[in-house]
Amino acid sequence: MPGRRDIEVADLVETARGGPGHRGSPRAVARLISLVEDADGVAGPLLREVMAMLSPHVGSAHVIGLTGAPGVGKSTTTNALVGELRRAGKRVGVLAVDPSSPFSGGALLGDRIRMTDHAGDPGVYIRSMASRGHLGGLSWSTPQAIRVLDGVGFDVVLVETVGVGQSEVEIAGLADTTVVLLAPGMGDGIQAAKAGILEVGDVYAINKSDRDGATKVRRDLRSMLALGTRDEAAWRPPVLAISAQSRTGLDELVESLEKHRTWLAESGALGARRERRAREEIEAIAVASLRARWEQGGREGLDDLAAAVAGGTLDPYAAADALLG
Ligand code: GDP
Repeated sequence: MPGRRDIEVADLVETARGGPGHRGSPRAVARLISLVEDADGVAGPLLREVMAMLSPHVGSAHVIGLTGAPGVGKSTTTNALVGELRRAGKRVGVLAVDPSSPFSGGALLGDRIRMTDHAGDPGVYIRSMASRGHLGGLSWSTPQAIRVLDGVGFDVVLVETVGVGQSEVEIAGLADTTVVLLAPGMGDGIQAAKAGILEVGDVYAINKSDRDGATKVRRDLRSMLALGTRDEAAWRPPVLAISAQSRTGLDELVESLEKHRTWLAESGALGARRERRAREEIEAIAVASLRARWEQGGREGLDDLAAAVAGGTLDPYAAADALLG
């Protein structure tokens, strides 16, 4: 006999799930993502059950990462792209991840995102997330939130993140397809080389191509990409010109996303990428659990061991063994 909580969890997951003839409840989706965020690395029994129930349903969403420097037009592009995808009949979940902020769920990012076009559309779910929890990085909550949106039936999960520090590399590790946005008047070609974006983009879009300088950025980027060597040589990242504001080039963008998705499936790269992502998820969860255990201290707590190592009575290898033992 299933217990009471099993029934509640099953009910919550079922309410969140959308699909043919079944409209997911945004409120239930929000609750599931809050469970992920609140866990901050260490899952309680409820989250564990939720994830176990969602697991068989995960894997059909197209996970798209969208990154670029502040001001390049990520929110505007996301908003426009969601419109295009909706017209194609797709349900879209959006995660706006701020890698520099310890604040989550609140109005900060929510306000910033220009998503008013989609308010009240049950086929669109938008959530802002902070990613610098005390465990740091995108490594814990973002992949789990993606998992939730995928599992509850969104066709596309769009993860928008500011390209600062390592975040574009991290987002590329999570996404099936990574879109890198550039724009004229923002340091031009140099911004590309500096941020290491030449390695991470599956699709490049020069936004604000209604402005002067867009052609030059496009040309510079193309020649930089031509110089580079990439492992996945079979896929040549397109460099598109778009204007999110005047809504031009978006159909090409959607087409390139589709093409990349097809290429991933046909080349076998999709499976490889997803396994890589799963490995990172497992590692992040395992490390978080270990860290939580250490932080509880106790007999062989990290503090005691650190004091012993600093004091010269213990070497760090023996201390690490004691911590793991
Ligand atoms: P984000 O910081 O990358 O999310 O950028 P936003 O989407 O907030 O856009 C930054 C600024 O660029 C805003 O003032 C937008 O209105 C403007 N913007 C966005 N897309 C375009 C575009 O295609 N053309 C022009 N001229 N401006 C744009």
